[in-house]
Amino acid sequence: MGNKNYHFDTKRIHAGYSAEEHLNAVNTPIYQTAAFDLGDIDRARRLWTGSENGGIYTRVGNPTVSVLEQRIAELDGGTAAIGVASGMAAITYAILLLGEGGGNIISASSLYGAAQESLTNFFPKFGITTKFVKNREDVNEYEALIDDNTKAIYLESISNPNIEVYDFEAIAQVAHKHGIPVVVDNTIATPYLFRPFEYGADIIIYSATKGISGHGNTIAGIVVEKGDFVYSKERFPQFHTKSYKMRDLEGNPRTPLELAPNFPFVASLRTFYLEFIGATLGAFDAFLVLQGLSTLSERLEKQVATTKKLIEYLENKKEVEWVRHPFAKDSQYKELADKYFPNGAGAVFSFGFGGTREQLKTFIKSLEVLSYHVNIGDVRTLIANPPETTHSELEPQLQELAGIPGNLVRISVGLENAEDLIGDLEQAFEKAFRE
Ligand SMILES: *Cc1c(COP(=O)(O)O)cnc(C)c1O
Repeated sequence: MGNKNYHFDTKRIHAGYSAEEHLNAVNTPIYQTAAFDLGDIDRARRLWTGSENGGIYTRVGNPTVSVLEQRIAELDGGTAAIGVASGMAAITYAILLLGEGGGNIISASSLYGAAQESLTNFFPKFGITTKFVKNREDVNEYEALIDDNTKAIYLESISNPNIEVYDFEAIAQVAHKHGIPVVVDNTIATPYLFRPFEYGADIIIYSATKGISGHGNTIAGIVVEKGDFVYSKERFPQFHTKSYKMRDLEGNPRTPLELAPNFPFVASLRTFYLEFIGATLGAFDAFLVLQGLSTLSERLEKQVATTKKLIEYLENKKEVEWVRHPFAKDSQYKELADKYFPNGAGAVFSFGFGGTREQLKTFIKSLEVLSYHVNIGDVRTLIANPPETTHSELEPQLQELAGIPGNLVRISVGLENAEDLIGDLEQAFEKAFRE
């Protein structure tokens, strides 16, 4: 796309792709191959030392996946991105890389269930612990938890399922003052609604399973690097350590910063994590994500508008105790949402069901348009009860810390007609509360 400063809507369709490089195919081809012909042994040496770009083996790179990586990097304004097999693989790779050799992460305690659970109980097995911030709005609390062994501040830009919004700029300022990068899971917002690098984030994580692909038909993850964070030798020796695996054409070992001064994070993930752990994104899955991405703006625009209508409807139901989303009348996040999410804080929200478990069972069972399954960011409107599903792996005290009451119901708004959705909810309320 040259160096032109095209708008978001143009880039989400064209960035990272040039038809001339792909036999003039207009749509990104699916390179469904495990390996690539190396040509001759000099070329092989150039490929292995990164002095020539080209396919080697799909575990560490594939042309279809590359288009997605470049497109997302451009949309977010980063220097590089890497596609992986799932959002959880993206989170795990980022945390393991930052925490190499051990350390701690400071995190908001309202996270995607599996992220919160792994930070709490899984990463400690690898010497990486997490200190959860209780008052997520209080920047001082993040700062007070930072120590010499802190490796990152980890946040979700729109938290799931509580739709909390934080003061990203203030948090990033504190992190950078102490030489610590900020990692933001931007899954619910997508780069259409929020671009974390513009507010101080250093690494972005996506579950591309959700809004970015948008059709509920694939599992995919992406890590994006902003490229200007200064990793100190003391806190982050991994980016200053020479390895033969990163050697130059003459066979001299190099550090990630020497190999890729503008994207040492993504280069390390590709060279070590994809190579050794291998949670690779397949070409066909990358194709599906690219396909979905090309309609991202229109989908989000309509989903946000429908979210507003559903929230207005639910706020007037006596069977609904509260609604959590910056669109809700009494939301405490209105000011922050206006600043950071001028196009709306996403199309996922939760509400408090004002009935018994038995009534909730009837309510969900009676829905005909809304679908009961645990995904978000789909063309279908989805309803779930996180306390017994997505967040059920959290022990009761973790659920309390994450602010998830037992009657919380989450909705991820799809692309159906808004009146049909409201009508569906209405008839289900009637059935559930019929005495
Ligand atoms: C779904 C989700 C993930 C995990 O993504 P997978 O693709 O399912 O592995 C991570 N973060 C958030 C916010 C999510 O919604």
